[in-house]
Amino acid sequence: MSIAQNLLKIKSTLPENVTLVAVSKTKPIPDLMEAYDAGQRIFGENKIQEMAEKWEAMPKDIEWHMIGHVQTNKVKFMVPFVSLIHGVDSLKLLEEINKQAKKNNRIIDCLLQVYIAEEESKFGLDEEELDEILHFVQTRGSAEQSEANDKEGMKNIRIVGLMGMATFTDNQNQIKKEFTHLKSIFDKLRYDGSGSGRDALQCVSTLSMGMSGDYQLAIECGSTMVRIGSSIFGGR
Ligand SMILES: *Cc1c(COP(=O)(O)O)cnc(C)c1O
Repeated sequence: MSIAQNLLKIKSTLPENVTLVAVSKTKPIPDLMEAYDAGQRIFGENKIQEMAEKWEAMPKDIEWHMIGHVQTNKVKFMVPFVSLIHGVDSLKLLEEINKQAKKNNRIIDCLLQVYIAEEESKFGLDEEELDEILHFVQTRGSAEQSEANDKEGMKNIRIVGLMGMATFTDNQNQIKKEFTHLKSIFDKLRYDGSGSGRDALQCVSTLSMGMSGDYQLAIECGSTMVRIGSSIFGGR
């Protein structure tokens, strides 16, 4: 099947409240354009330079999502155009995004990446680290707070949800357990956010989980955003 056919087939199976990010990393621009011409407007990349090159070359109504691990010193290269950063996993990174967003006069949406898999991985926050970041953001202010808070505040970022990756395994029960766990953290965050009166957490609505191999299960477990690459564009 062609890229367009793959894309339309997957889209037809997604519930209305689930957003599809077409993960186009390593793929050439003509492949992305085939998906674009079939209606896709959200693309996910995991390397900042590759994403910037594609952004420059492609139509400007595309939303570019950074789904990979982000090095602090490269944030500035994507801040002018990125629309959602999925893999925020430290306060230092969040502060750099805030700083660069301010320079660009933008407010940038971010997801906090939570570590849910059983396997060893360098990336993602554990629940304690997640709480620390949330506490910081909640007590230091956010996007719409008063100018007085400007100096220490986080006015130029918005935490709109969470992202996670399940263990790479065939064990459906384990994947389900991990997704369900992330959903429960997400629900708690949404609940706390709505009660906190803090703008930074008022917009929590996105739960980014699920890839080609496990997105159906992720949706059953409450995902609102799936990141699908190889099932659309073929293997890498
Ligand atoms: C590559 C990647 C995906 C897409 O993976 P597929 O298995 O090709 O669908 C999703 N999320 C992240 C973070 C990735 O790096």
